[in-house]
Amino acid sequence: MRKKIIAGNWKMNKTLEEGKILTSEVVNMAKDELRDDVQLVLCTPFIHLSNLQTMLADSTVALGAQNCSNHASGAYTGETSAAMLQSIGVDYVILGHSERREYFGETDFLLAEKVDIALENGLIPIFCCGEPLEIRERDGQQAYVQQQIEESLFHLSDEKFGKIVIAYEPIWAIGTGKTASSDQAQEMHAAIRKQITEKYGEEIANNTSILYGGSMKPANAEELLSCMDVDGGLIGGASLKSRDFVDIAKSY
Ligand code: PEP
Repeated sequence: MRKKIIAGNWKMNKTLEEGKILTSEVVNMAKDELRDDVQLVLCTPFIHLSNLQTMLADSTVALGAQNCSNHASGAYTGETSAAMLQSIGVDYVILGHSERREYFGETDFLLAEKVDIALENGLIPIFCCGEPLEIRERDGQQAYVQQQIEESLFHLSDEKFGKIVIAYEPIWAIGTGKTASSDQAQEMHAAIRKQITEKYGEEIANNTSILYGGSMKPANAEELLSCMDVDGGLIGGASLKSRDFVDIAKSY
């Protein structure tokens, strides 16, 4: 059975002290309040990963990065490699977030390289896809998302694809307070699962976790997470408050 995952994307927020407080609150609440079949992941700024890894070592909460280089090593000033992340105990890495696509020019083909190198280093990619508003307005969202998935993921072997987590994040819903309706989310998630079935077969498709992201909060989480093909959430703003983040996970 596919995993239920609630991943927090802190983006470029929190000093180290603030991050430690948030982490210890999440760990304690998760221990007391959460079912053990919901995997929490904290995707923090690179600079905090090492410190927070020590805090998470004995907990059930996993650690994620928000990006990695497409290169293995070398003269790439300012970059962080997948091997470095693996060496400090990072479990997951967000790849292809719409902010990285938009502000840092990440393309589907570059992301295919990042996916490869993340998998080679034992990291689990949380691969983000999703359409901008103008594409949704002309009902082109399914073709748009299918192309992102095909170009970045469909070169993978069955075994490697089986390790991927997908996050569907309509860009018009990220950080805007506008959430996709549960019907819109379910429709897209079912389409993604169908696309995976056609390429990799039913077993792999049924085992792939497909998360929804875009203004998810405690007030709308239950409705979104009850959709048959929504296997969790990638949470931005609401992951910066421990109570909201854990309450979203409790909506299951
Ligand atoms: C995100 O950045 O991945 C995200 C879903 O943000 P928010 O929850 O703030 O919309």
